[in-house]
Amino acid sequence: HQAATMGNIDIQDISYTYYGSDKPVLKGISLSLKAGDKVALLGRTGCGKSTLLQLLTRNWDPQQGTITLDGTPLAQWHESSLREAITVVSQRVDVFNGSLRENLILAKPNGTDEEFKSVLEQVGLEALLEGKGLDTWLGEGGRQISGGERRRIGIARALLHDAPILLMDEPTEGLDRRTEQQIMALLQKHAKDKTVLFITHRLVGLEQMDHICLMDEGEITEQGKHDEL
Ligand code: ATP
Ligand code: MG
Repeated sequence: HQAATMGNIDIQDISYTYYGSDKPVLKGISLSLKAGDKVALLGRTGCGKSTLLQLLTRNWDPQQGTITLDGTPLAQWHESSLREAITVVSQRVDVFNGSLRENLILAKPNGTDEEFKSVLEQVGLEALLEGKGLDTWLGEGGRQISGGERRRIGIARALLHDAPILLMDEPTEGLDRRTEQQIMALLQKHAKDKTVLFITHRLVGLEQMDHICLMDEGEITEQGKHDEL
């Protein structure tokens, strides 16, 4: 896949059942996002929101239905192109044993120390730089980080990766109000021209979305604009 990704996502009637289960988690989901659309996905715990994200990043394949990106079925995308096209802030951000720099550089292999420091400041993690700076060791035997810090490392990676499609799974869960507002403002600015799918429990900032989808037990039960729902 050579052309630059525009960010059109078309999900057609997908169903998904986890291996070893007989109960489908997604039951005929259809959803289209045009390039630049901002869509929020809401629904009770366990309704299948994160599962849908896993299918969008091709971590798993749906048993039924198709997902296309810019008109090309997901299955036909090269792994590297797909990774360039999509940034994910997952619900459980993975921080591994390594330096702060190593934990960021995977999001931008040619990133500079200056960029890494700047992005850490933007997400309010400059305190992690105290002492050893980007050589600060995270994880086992190193600096222990809180849930909120872990989440903000995920957001820092997303800012660095800068792909045309941004998928976020509860990016501000567990952050206090003020930090949440700061992070949301930052993400909104960053995502201005991107296609965004934003999974949330919180009813904050929804009026700024183009479209809101309500999910229940693996189905989209309602959708529309904020003032229509
Ligand atoms: P939450 O708001 O709590 O994050 P969610 O809407 O993201 O919930 P999912 O994580 O997509 O929900 O899970 C949907 C259903 O699939 C749940 O019943 C969950 O237990 C089940 N499930 C999730 N991951 C797996 C897995 N790896 N294997 C089997 N079942 C799974
Ligand atoms: Mg989830």
